[in-house]
Amino acid sequence: MRKLLASLLSLGLAAPFAFPADAPPLAGYSADSARAERDWEAKFRAVPDPANLRAYMQRLSARPHHVGSPYDKDNAEWMLARLKEWGLDARIETFDVLFPTPKERVLELLEPTRFTAKLSEPTESVDPTSGQHEEQLPTYNAYSIDGDVTAPLVYVNYGVPADYEMLDRLGVSVKGAIVIARYGGSWRGIKPKVAAEHGAVGCLIYSDPRDDGYAQGEVFPAGAYRNRDGVQRGSVMDMPVYPGDPLTPGVGATKDAKRLDRGQAVTLTKIPVMPISYGDAQPLLAAMRGPVAPPAWRGALPITYRVGPGPARVHLKLAFNWDLKPLYNVIVRIPGAVYPDEWIIRGNHHDAWVNGAEDPVSGTSALLEEARGFATLLRQGWRPKRTIVYCIWDGEEPGLLGSTEWAEAHADELRQKAAVYLNSDTNGRGYLEVEGSHTLERFLNGVARDIQDPESHVSVWRRLQARELANGAQPSAGPARPNGAPPAEARTRPDLRIGALGSGSDYTAFLDHLGIASVNLGFGGEDGGGIYHSIYDDFYWYTHFSDGDFVYGRALAQTAGTAVMRLADADLLPFDFDDFTDTIRRYIEEVQALARDRRNQIIERNRMLDEGVFAAVEDPREPTKPPAREAVPPFLNFAPLENGLAALQRVTEAYDKAAARAAANGGSALANPASAAALREANMRLIAVERALTLKEGLPGRPWFQHQIYAPGFYTGYGVKTLPAVRESIEQGQWSQAEEEIAKVGKVLENAGEAIQSATTELQQVR
Ligand SMILES: [Zn+2]
Repeated sequence: MRKLLASLLSLGLAAPFAFPADAPPLAGYSADSARAERDWEAKFRAVPDPANLRAYMQRLSARPHHVGSPYDKDNAEWMLARLKEWGLDARIETFDVLFPTPKERVLELLEPTRFTAKLSEPTESVDPTSGQHEEQLPTYNAYSIDGDVTAPLVYVNYGVPADYEMLDRLGVSVKGAIVIARYGGSWRGIKPKVAAEHGAVGCLIYSDPRDDGYAQGEVFPAGAYRNRDGVQRGSVMDMPVYPGDPLTPGVGATKDAKRLDRGQAVTLTKIPVMPISYGDAQPLLAAMRGPVAPPAWRGALPITYRVGPGPARVHLKLAFNWDLKPLYNVIVRIPGAVYPDEWIIRGNHHDAWVNGAEDPVSGTSALLEEARGFATLLRQGWRPKRTIVYCIWDGEEPGLLGSTEWAEAHADELRQKAAVYLNSDTNGRGYLEVEGSHTLERFLNGVARDIQDPESHVSVWRRLQARELANGAQPSAGPARPNGAPPAEARTRPDLRIGALGSGSDYTAFLDHLGIASVNLGFGGEDGGGIYHSIYDDFYWYTHFSDGDFVYGRALAQTAGTAVMRLADADLLPFDFDDFTDTIRRYIEEVQALARDRRNQIIERNRMLDEGVFAAVEDPREPTKPPAREAVPPFLNFAPLENGLAALQRVTEAYDKAAARAAANGGSALANPASAAALREANMRLIAVERALTLKEGLPGRPWFQHQIYAPGFYTGYGVKTLPAVRESIEQGQWSQAEEEIAKVGKVLENAGEAIQSATTELQQVR
């Protein structure tokens, strides 16, 4: 903290926080409506109270509250009662989903020594809720299939495709083996998927202390980090194919929805999989022989990491209750006074793996304070122009169940009416982390400029900019710069860049399936820890090691609530296409560079094979196989993407002109009653721009994912792949498919250009 302030001061950024006397104009507002908006927003931001956030967390995380548990339902009903008490129109919407829970879990080492895994997290006496074992879900991975397998063990590092290429070079196969992978490097569901594709019969996933344990910091309860018995529960559903209830892809899991048989559900794993602690993993790993693991594969356990196979042989037996369980989504509606059929949607989940103080209650609590803030404003006479929908989702943890089923059940209405979806999940101390649709990048920069950071007392935007400058100035961050000057962009570009969204929380169905412009918000970066999805993610941990005074909870409520209000109250929706177009240009350049690099790598590797380079460097005592020869790929024709981009650039300029004209003279055109019909039409067309980035046929092999710009990677899971169809075809060496995808995405960019053009034409009528 002290260190950071020093760097802020030296950058001249630590001016005390204050709103400028004449606040900058609000995009999409006339001068009068902007003044009123700033007043209402200031009133709103005074409402969220850390004492309430603390009380909500204490209540919501008091007992385990996973899907199907009594306290999950109890929490939903408690929140419903509070929302109604505040005077809001709230109700619970239920769905019935497949949610397996463990019936039997056995893991034993049979050879060369015997060891039976503990598979449990002990009570810590200082931590009052850690002893609620009766109600805690055992440690397991949801949507693993049942299985009973005995096989030699192979260590596969993170278990991503590149690790199997390395195993191949080491001459090690996982066919018929049980793999042991460490957490990290991909979303966890990727590990059993890739293992099964390579012929493994079972999969263990453990938390290595290098990535999640004592190598990171003091372990719980002395410190915040994962102790030797802590286990990361979690879903292993094949979510890159589709998230949500495995039995009802594409439709809401209502009472009488048509359901697949469990055997037809492709998102269940193909092999049994279970997570374990590093305490349970160590004897298994220590019993392995075979090649010493490559340096990058070695964790922080005090053993020599080897890849096997065997001689360690393990027995893994898993059986689950395959029941349907009810979901309780809490939905609040604040009707819009001017544009009731344009919706601003805000969500955070409430279910947890166990007590879940950080994940998700830190975010849920902030959302509740926002709702209370709006209730307060409504009593004082505030009427949002657009309809605001607040959603407190159930079943996020097992597979984005509550949000996906709700979005699928209401898909037609959402496609027509939803303007923006704003999500949050866990929250902690630190920096504002924003990811989302680039059409909202400028808007979100504006919001971040108006929120005060509770630690540095500059705006959260300033603090973020300072971090970018500070990080960029570190010599290790990249090539040396003349005079050691920091990179210019964070100073010179008007807006800080926001990351793109892949998957990993409840925005997925809104953005990826329905094409609704979406944002994910949260604070973090200062409070590490290792309690994720364990019984120790609870009130004791959160109040000792995270945002214990709840000032960042308040900052989240202020940020998200301000964003919701500013979107809901705007005369003209504040989408912007400059940053969007600029970012699309970068994405296109990235796939062009990817294709060039892949091609050059293949040429160089083939040359090395011809020259006998691999044979010459071979250590005969530790033989490895040379890599395989690949055909040199053709050059790809990127013209359709470049033409699509050019079309976007042309209309963006025209839109900016029309928007500038509407904003001239204090935005009098926006306030002109004679222009109301054209303004309404312009707003509807703006909402349609994000939809134009989708294709009904979806991505190759996964039709549920319709967005063509953002998607989770098929083999990374959470990491976003931008221009996913093009990028993944190139990564997988499918060059002719890549060319087809380039043509398709080029057309999508042109469609988006037409959508922006049509909004522009309407906006030109607003005078
Ligand atoms: Zn969460």
